[in-house]
Amino acid sequence: MTSIPYDKPLPVLDPLTKPYWDFAWARQLSVQRCQSCGDRHFPACEVCPVCLSDDQLWEVVSGRATLVSWVRFHRAYWDGYRAELPYDVCLVQLEEGPLVLSNFGCDIPDDVHMGLPMRAVFEHVAESVSLLRFVPA
Ligand SMILES: [Zn+2]
Repeated sequence: MTSIPYDKPLPVLDPLTKPYWDFAWARQLSVQRCQSCGDRHFPACEVCPVCLSDDQLWEVVSGRATLVSWVRFHRAYWDGYRAELPYDVCLVQLEEGPLVLSNFGCDIPDDVHMGLPMRAVFEHVAESVSLLRFVPA
């Protein structure tokens, strides 16, 4: 149980995404893997974006990634982010293939550049909700 105050939007843990959140709570990154064609994808989809099969499982991945891009937001689209302005968003490519939008789990490093090796970390922000962040590996 956690009592961390968190006033930003929280995800809805529905049947489609609950396995992801369960793994995240255990500090493990997971993506969906199609049992028909093997495609790994993120975020969750009802059907495989490649072959449209609904036979998918969640698979724990390494958490290793490469920085593809990043941006600094100077506007708060939700009041909960106002105190953190400016805040940073990153796009990484997981070693296993999927692209993932996330945040840095640290200040943007001075040597930030495309291709920077990154690794996943998790921040418990509410009961059963642990958010994915990336830091330099
Ligand atoms: Zn497929």
